[in-house]
Amino acid sequence: MSQALSPLDVAEHALIDERRRLTRDEAMAIARLPLDELPSLIALAHKVRLEWCGAEVELESLINAKSGACPEDCAFCSQSVRYNTGVDVYAFLDQDEILEAARATRAAGATQFCIVVAVRGPEERLLSKVIDAVDMVQRETGLEVACSLGLLKPEQAQRLAEAGVRRYNHNLESCREVFPQICTTHSYDDRVATAQLAKDAGMELCCGGILGMGETLEQRVDFAFELAELEPCEVPINLLDPRPGTPMTGHDTLSPREALQAIALFRLILPDAWLRLAGGRERVLGELQGMGLVAGANALIVGNYLTTGGRSAEEDHALLEALGMPVADGPGEGRFIVDATGAHAKPAEAPKKLIPLTQTR
Ligand code: SF4
Repeated sequence: MSQALSPLDVAEHALIDERRRLTRDEAMAIARLPLDELPSLIALAHKVRLEWCGAEVELESLINAKSGACPEDCAFCSQSVRYNTGVDVYAFLDQDEILEAARATRAAGATQFCIVVAVRGPEERLLSKVIDAVDMVQRETGLEVACSLGLLKPEQAQRLAEAGVRRYNHNLESCREVFPQICTTHSYDDRVATAQLAKDAGMELCCGGILGMGETLEQRVDFAFELAELEPCEVPINLLDPRPGTPMTGHDTLSPREALQAIALFRLILPDAWLRLAGGRERVLGELQGMGLVAGANALIVGNYLTTGGRSAEEDHALLEALGMPVADGPGEGRFIVDATGAHAKPAEAPKKLIPLTQTR
């Protein structure tokens, strides 16, 4: 008598042998497995990542180019004007400061540079400054530039695409059911609309969210499928690191095992995306950060996040070297291996997608 296949066997057959995506039922069956089976889930996620994406890890840095005083009320965000968080408040940085950060990004071995501003959406004056900065960073550093400027209008998306912005970050933050509990000043559909606008304008879409904001495991799976519908090239995974002064203060964080389970599930549901570990990885995963990269993640934000400090780029390079995972290079003709001495060209297939984000956007 033949034995029924386990949910992990079914998923492996689908993703590796048939090379098709999982159904919601298939993913949910895996989510319901006891956490004791986490090592097997991680092993499958790693296999799927290698099969669909390869071993490379993509690095990106962010600049918080305009901080604080945002009128929106996102409950996790220390940049909302509604909460007393003590976050730095400043207008759009000078071009020199942005260029300096871009050069530091290049020196740190990252190839993507994301300009982030804390606003509901960009006013004309701000948008013009961002477009000037995008042009300058591309010319002076050759970095790929991404932007995260909040809600867009169609003509704004078009202008960013024409300015050479390759990717636009706009996270859905959480699943449709949970979103109204974490933000009331704009809607989930507003966010979906901007994500779609970015794609329609020809930019690659970076779209993810924050895990651990009270969603159930089932809702976490639904969130991954909602993201998959938008076909993002990159999915940033932030792990809630409750910011003092926000409504999330004192909120529980995910356990390291829950976080690893979520990362692995996202890999199975989004097999070909850059899955970027972003904000909260130090706080939630602690010493298990390397496990995140064998549980399906294949991209990191290096350096600081928007409102929280990260660990040093050197530590991340050492981790990748220990794991035998080369650094991918997005821009230009090929991929590169980056070591302590700089970037060394390596023949490779065309670069894939890219980009990220953290505790805001
Ligand atoms: S997440 Fe973005 S839109 Fe929401 S409050 Fe923070 S900066 Fe504003």
